[in-house]
Amino acid sequence: MSDPVWVGVDIGGTKILAGSVDPHGGVGGTVQRPAGPRDGSVEELESTIVEAALAAAAGAPLVGVGLAAAGFVDAAGERVRFAPHLPWREDDVRRRLAARLQVPVGLANDATCALEAEVAHGAARGRDSALLVTVGTGIGGALMVGGRVVRGSGGMAGEFGHMRFVPGGHPCQCGLQGCWEQYASGGALVREIRRATGTAGSDTLTGPGITDAALAGDPAALNAFGVVGRALGLGLAGLVAAFDPDCIVVGGGVSAAGELLLAPARGALVEGLVGAAWRTVPDVLVAACGPEAGMIGAVVQARRQCG
Ligand SMILES: [Zn+2]
Repeated sequence: MSDPVWVGVDIGGTKILAGSVDPHGGVGGTVQRPAGPRDGSVEELESTIVEAALAAAAGAPLVGVGLAAAGFVDAAGERVRFAPHLPWREDDVRRRLAARLQVPVGLANDATCALEAEVAHGAARGRDSALLVTVGTGIGGALMVGGRVVRGSGGMAGEFGHMRFVPGGHPCQCGLQGCWEQYASGGALVREIRRATGTAGSDTLTGPGITDAALAGDPAALNAFGVVGRALGLGLAGLVAAFDPDCIVVGGGVSAAGELLLAPARGALVEGLVGAAWRTVPDVLVAACGPEAGMIGAVVQARRQCG
């Protein structure tokens, strides 16, 4: 009989990624499933999660399951209040999945889980305070101060992507205008290229495509990373002024561009940071746990929540 395992399940807007995670953050076999449509049923979504968790365990008995959800999770880690790309609305996700899986289940927001993974096993290992931003289609975030993740009174802390960056600026999917993620994400890279080259309709323009073009020396792509990296750094300067973290970890799909994004971000961070000459400017690091950060951190978090 196989040793009992913890399984982490990262429930994103488009896909569900599940894998067994050992106490050192090592990931066994992973399985991937489509998350289903936003207007699909809660029952269908939760059945997919249960099936993915059992498939990831590959016949080994489950000790427990950690869930990382792309949505607002309440401060107690019991309910998903709202998820923009998933059907959950004020749903008692933790209790219901624990009943179906017959093991302890932990629940937290996906960016919170990614930060837990980076602090326990990744780029922010051993740090006491850390800020995480995930730069993908939009911007997600999480904050740790004094070794504890800051969740806020309603569990909604860390939505840095929706801080007002440009008053009266680009409309955001959240309903507000001028949000930071409109200027410092993969979506902003695409907009910047279109603006610079005048190609309004190219459907083939994607974040990874722009990264490849920049690595190959394409001037428009390099310029787009400069513009977006600076917007990232300026927003980070505000967050550092507010929270004074020891380090900043940048994850998400766009972070694969590495220094193309981080070099202009560091420059703008120093320029925009109050008292930069008289303080230690935090290290800006690329996330180390990769696309598995959510599932790894879900297990780190669940071990504590269920312990
Ligand atoms: Zn917004």
